[in-house]
Amino acid sequence: MKILKFGGTSVGSPNAFLKVFDAIISNTDGKCVVVLSAVTGTTDKLLEATNQSIKNLEQSFKILSEVKNKHLDIVNKLFEDNINLDNFVNSIFNDINNRITAYNNLGELTSYNISSVVSYGEILSSRILFELLQSKGVPSQLLDSRELIATDNNYKESKVDYQLTYERFVSKSHIFETKNVFITQGFLGSCNKGKVSLLGRGGSDYSASLFGFFLNKMGHNIEEIQIWTDVSGVLSADPRIVTSSKTIKSMSYDEIRILSYLGAKVLHPDTIKPAISANIPLRVMNTFSHDNSLNTLILGSDKLVTPSINSLILIDNCYELKIFPDSTENGFSTCERIYNLLRNSGNKIYLKIASEEVIKVYLKENPAPLLNITDNISFSVNSISLLAFTGYNVSKMINIIYNSLDIFNLSIVAYTDNCCYLKCSEKFEIEKLNRLHNFVFDNYSQKE
Ligand code: ADP
Ligand code: ASP
Ligand code: MG
Repeated sequence: MKILKFGGTSVGSPNAFLKVFDAIISNTDGKCVVVLSAVTGTTDKLLEATNQSIKNLEQSFKILSEVKNKHLDIVNKLFEDNINLDNFVNSIFNDINNRITAYNNLGELTSYNISSVVSYGEILSSRILFELLQSKGVPSQLLDSRELIATDNNYKESKVDYQLTYERFVSKSHIFETKNVFITQGFLGSCNKGKVSLLGRGGSDYSASLFGFFLNKMGHNIEEIQIWTDVSGVLSADPRIVTSSKTIKSMSYDEIRILSYLGAKVLHPDTIKPAISANIPLRVMNTFSHDNSLNTLILGSDKLVTPSINSLILIDNCYELKIFPDSTENGFSTCERIYNLLRNSGNKIYLKIASEEVIKVYLKENPAPLLNITDNISFSVNSISLLAFTGYNVSKMINIIYNSLDIFNLSIVAYTDNCCYLKCSEKFEIEKLNRLHNFVFDNYSQKE
């Protein structure tokens, strides 16, 4: 059995829903789990409408009516006549409007209030796809992921409770014995009080991985988890800024984890953890391309042999913090102390390097204001651009990267098995990023 997850852009229009239908039919043998995101833009709009509910009710209703019309438009174009579905969409928006009005009366929002409105995005999209499969005579069943994925009660960014989720899956095991296309919602779970919770933005990828993990644990053979999106797999750079980025054929779990941690939007960073532990391959595929050979297979590094450089990512406008430990304190305990301080302040830490002589931390926000007031330490901060080449056994390919250093005014900060970090002391323009990408990857493909 395969798990297929379709992102928001894959269900952004009536035509996109039809592409999703084609992908399900041509990639499965009739039994699979389809995990769906909300129609593109819906989560953002529902969030905005909820936040506006306590400030400007009229504005909130205006946003909701746009979202409703978008869904009704999709429904009307996909189905000649589907009163049930029309009624369903209308009843959901009635419910949302009632909630929004109640929040306005209360004058405050809890994170559960927000989650309960935002969760409707996935409820709507999954129901539309289910009706589409039904209308085309494909045996299918709609599953409520709130009844399966158990979380804590941190509603907006909840943590999955693996033990409880497993028990929930086991209690519904009979469902998965039938030969059906199971449609379910990504991003959603519920806490032990049964109230809906969310897995964090972009969390549908994680949901897909969780379905793979738990079904595998129950003894189902999960061939693959497929992440269907609007580009042809994981690319050698962000395609929105590097025009000649190319599909990476295969990469390791460790590499995709670091790439998404550094900000490549294509996968949610937590996605792969359950897939790794169950050893299930992931494949990133394009819903809109006819060429299915352009996709990325993600596997355990024990399955890879040839060292590679696969992808380049730019983290613009970040900071290099250098801390000079004083001689009375061990350098590593200073590191631990400062690191906790920075992490607790919510600053994103990309990389930290510690030695007795100096501690370097690469971060998203300028740490100077915090360090000035909280600690008596000697430090300096520079504004830099951080770049990273990811790959498999990157250290074996480092000579290719070395050749670019002088040309692009870069220096190597550190490297690990899966990533080589570089910095540039000035702003790294997009045009330069394109040139660096082509310089390294053209060089590289000639050597392959
Ligand atoms: P979905 O709606 O399918 O979840 P996302 O918008 O979350 O899709 O992720 C896909 C987007 O990630 C692509 O449209 C692409 O613009 C962006 N992206 C950024 N970096 C990369 C990369 N290295 N490879 C592929 N896509 C990337
Ligand atoms: N719809 C949710 C979001 O936009 C989850 C997802 O798409 O993965 O964050
Ligand atoms: Mg996504």
